[in-house]
Amino acid sequence: MPQRADTFDVGRLGLAAGEGRRFTLDVAIEPLTFGGETYAAAGGFVTATLDAERTTRGFALRLRYETTLEGPCMRCLEVARRPVAIDAREIDQPGGGEELRSPYLQDELLDVASWARDALALELPHRIVCSEECRGLCPECGANLNQVGPDHRHERAPDPRWAVLRELRFD
Ligand SMILES: [Zn+2]
Ligand SMILES: [Zn+2]
Repeated sequence: MPQRADTFDVGRLGLAAGEGRRFTLDVAIEPLTFGGETYAAAGGFVTATLDAERTTRGFALRLRYETTLEGPCMRCLEVARRPVAIDAREIDQPGGGEELRSPYLQDELLDVASWARDALALELPHRIVCSEECRGLCPECGANLNQVGPDHRHERAPDPRWAVLRELRFD
């Protein structure tokens, strides 16, 4: 059984340099907001594989999981689901400068929940659509073009330039 974990104490593993261990963790994922809409991992948590390896001065970490991202289609706002595979890595090497510190590791305590959520947030800008063929919403009336059919059209508002021409008299 995976253990339920939002944080994980990598220091407690007592690894020697070059030694690594793999764990399976159930991690709760808070919903994400993007463009005013809410997106969530199906079920609210994921089962993730964490690889923790001690390096000479710190840790090399890898987090992997698969989930289905659920939320409104970015074209038509109907419910959309997109399978997502996350494979994220972090290096934490104290004394190696800011860029070699992981924001998720503090005093050898790993914030797995934040890491897993941020990694999912990075997937969000990719289009989440109900189907690749989704036709989206009518820009003029907001009708769902998947439902109203391909013949949905509006009379074009008359071009104001024609009105000016009509007022010219050619006699
Ligand atoms: Zn759609
Ligand atoms: Zn319309």
